[in-house]
Order: sequence, then structure tokens, then C-alpha cells
Amino acid sequence: MERPRCERKGTLPHPATYALTWDLLSGRVTKFFCDEHAQNARPQPDHISKLIGWNPDPAAVEED
Ligand SMILES: [Zn+2]
Repeated sequence: MERPRCERKGTLPHPATYALTWDLLSGRVTKFFCDEHAQNARPQPDHISKLIGWNPDPAAVEED
């Protein structure tokens, strides 16, 4: 599985550290954000989950 990237618009690609979820009338929306961008996300998310477990097996890491 690939580590998700922060989905903040208008930024260069960088890794996400949180999953933010909004319970909207149209359904539940989840986006990935980094620490900094998760703190000032608007509107305020209904749920915030810290992403854990993104510790790649060194033997499995290969750069293309
Ligand atoms: Zn970010």
C-alpha cells in the first residue's frame, strides 16, 4: 500500500499524517492531510484519525 499524500489543494506533494472525516448531508467524506494542514482544515472535521503503521519493510523498499 502506498502512503497517502496530503490532499490540501495548491500544495506540493507531501506525505499525509492524518485522515480527516466530515459527515455531510450528502454522505461521509474522508481526506488525508498532514499535521500542519489538518490543524487549520475548514470546515472543522467531525473525526480525525492519526495515520499509523507506515513503516515500510526496508527489504521491500525499492526506488524506481
Ligand atoms: Zn499538507
